[in-house]
Amino acid sequence: MVKVITMTTLVAGSVSCAGPEGKRQAEEPFRWQIDAFDDIKVLRYRVPGFEEMPLQEKTLIYYLNQAALCGRDILFDQNFKYNLAIRRTLEAAYAGFDGDRTTPEWAAFEKYLKKVWFANGIHHHYSNDKFVPEFSEAYFDELLAGVPDDRLPGEWGDRQALMAIVKPAIFDASLYATRLNQRDGDDLLLTSSSNYYEGVSQAEAERYFASMADPDDPRPVSYGLNSKLVKENGRLTERVWKVGGMYSPAIERIVYWLEKAAGVAASPQKETIEALAEYYRTGDLRQFDAYNILWVEDTVSRIDFVNGFIENYGDPLGYKASWESNVNYRDDQATQRTWVISGAAQWFEDHSPVDDRYKKKEVKGVSAKVINVAMLGGDCYPATPIGINLPNADWIRKEHGSKSVTIQNITQAYAEAAKGNGLQEEFMLREEDRRRVAEYGLLGDNLHTDLHECLGHGSGQLAPGVKGSELGSYGSTLEETRADLFGLYYLGDPKMAELGLVPGFDVAKAQYASYIMNGLMTQLARIEPGKNVEEAHMRNRKLIAEWCYEQGKADKVIEWVTENGKRYVVVNDFEKLRELFGRMLREVQRIKSEGDFEAGRRLVESYGVKVDPELHAEVLERYASLGIQPYAGFVNPVYTPVLENGEIVDVEIGYTEDYAGQMLDYSENYSFLPSKN
Ligand code: ZN
Repeated sequence: MVKVITMTTLVAGSVSCAGPEGKRQAEEPFRWQIDAFDDIKVLRYRVPGFEEMPLQEKTLIYYLNQAALCGRDILFDQNFKYNLAIRRTLEAAYAGFDGDRTTPEWAAFEKYLKKVWFANGIHHHYSNDKFVPEFSEAYFDELLAGVPDDRLPGEWGDRQALMAIVKPAIFDASLYATRLNQRDGDDLLLTSSSNYYEGVSQAEAERYFASMADPDDPRPVSYGLNSKLVKENGRLTERVWKVGGMYSPAIERIVYWLEKAAGVAASPQKETIEALAEYYRTGDLRQFDAYNILWVEDTVSRIDFVNGFIENYGDPLGYKASWESNVNYRDDQATQRTWVISGAAQWFEDHSPVDDRYKKKEVKGVSAKVINVAMLGGDCYPATPIGINLPNADWIRKEHGSKSVTIQNITQAYAEAAKGNGLQEEFMLREEDRRRVAEYGLLGDNLHTDLHECLGHGSGQLAPGVKGSELGSYGSTLEETRADLFGLYYLGDPKMAELGLVPGFDVAKAQYASYIMNGLMTQLARIEPGKNVEEAHMRNRKLIAEWCYEQGKADKVIEWVTENGKRYVVVNDFEKLRELFGRMLREVQRIKSEGDFEAGRRLVESYGVKVDPELHAEVLERYASLGIQPYAGFVNPVYTPVLENGEIVDVEIGYTEDYAGQMLDYSENYSFLPSKN
């Protein structure tokens, strides 16, 4: 499970940059933001200390990086079955056009392609809505006129047949309108255009997976996680993503680089990487569990990675996982902070406001660390979470614990890029709130992420007989809600000061003020007019803020204030707000522990989805006046092995690629799947 950036408080403060990196920075300022288009900005992140790593670590990172880049096409195809054909057609036009590249139509075409790269497909990475091209079909024809047939993907037939799928997908707004539909009452599969199911209704898929689950199995595999469910000759079958199965050409490359990585890794990591490769070879979900157990129990290796079909946010039913990867290494100094938190894990669990029956009697191995990423791939690229807690299987978390990370160099890049963007001045009414956010915003964000990931997701337990999948399409939102509430509640606990993590309650005040402001107002900047909130993390933030507003209304815990014609939201009573977080945590944990679908559905639908159109219009207008983009993603550094007699003797890192250059590089060198899978 992941934590997505909240982007409200990350405007002030910076992470200090010491050592040779710092010196270089003084000579030539590091450019954090390198591109911007539509609602997106593209940043770079630094990889501190890479140059000083021993050769073995550099080489291991290099091989894992290669594995992280080889699955990019998988995600494109998972997101929509025509995405690869569309991307390649667009890229062929982009490279082949020798006409005027200074016209508004060219700019619109380039923007569209940049958006497709960013979203790994033609649907927005966050809202899931299909992009609207701002260039005409006639212009598209003009661009393609100069492209020879052999530069176009051929798997869907000749040029005419290709255009028969590509053009309607781009230009017909009524087709494939959303990648992920979660509207209550719809058939969520037939109305979603992600590529996890084909010709299968929601009811059929639900029956299929219900029939697989053995209610008495205490260690169930993650049914359906690594396959596409299709109907063949009237029967449901899974096309498994493995060597020899669906997506084999890309998976074979991933396995190739994993084997290289295993060759230079030390035990126990070597065995972990081998177990992952074996899972890719067999597609056996028991083997995936075996790998996860090895992975979660390895808390010694400084270099670590995520690589596989992991998160299920893209499947409306929550079974299928998108492919993702990152490669990372522990930041030993910053990790002290999370060790203090996880060291007190049992205290936090015992003192939490949830019903005693739903607390873990014994909190198992929460291993928390602060990391820096060295590479982002698949569903972690270019947009990446800032915290990760894995594995996702409930029984593994219960028996073997979970690994939880906060990504330091990514939050640093966000903070650096957001300096002085004017967001607080525009939306935060009180000077005292802005002052606290300036002083404690970054610390509050980091600690909230630590608590969310280290403890929040791992806390609590299910009632006997409850499997954890009962909440269906509301599961992701409610799980993020639970983890966020845990973090919010404890950020304001006196225990945090006692542990030496915060100077006092002001850190919580800063976080509460910006969290509520974001949940009720500023995150609406990410939503198009007329749309509701769809994405799980955004629903969760809205749900928490709206619920607390309503529950605290009589006491004016949170209040709407209008000044000079602008609306603001103000927290009047931070202590009472904290109590509300606690009460809500108790209820959300009960819903999860009892698998109370109806109560969960009611909470999300009443508080987390519907947008007030007037407020929405105001937020969009004020946000637009600031000229900042509500979404951000990253380009990766470039790693170049230095070879002597065929042996790697060093790996050099450079921050040299721009956004379009990197995307074209990846499409050229890390593209292994046919356009039709
Ligand atoms: Zn989370």
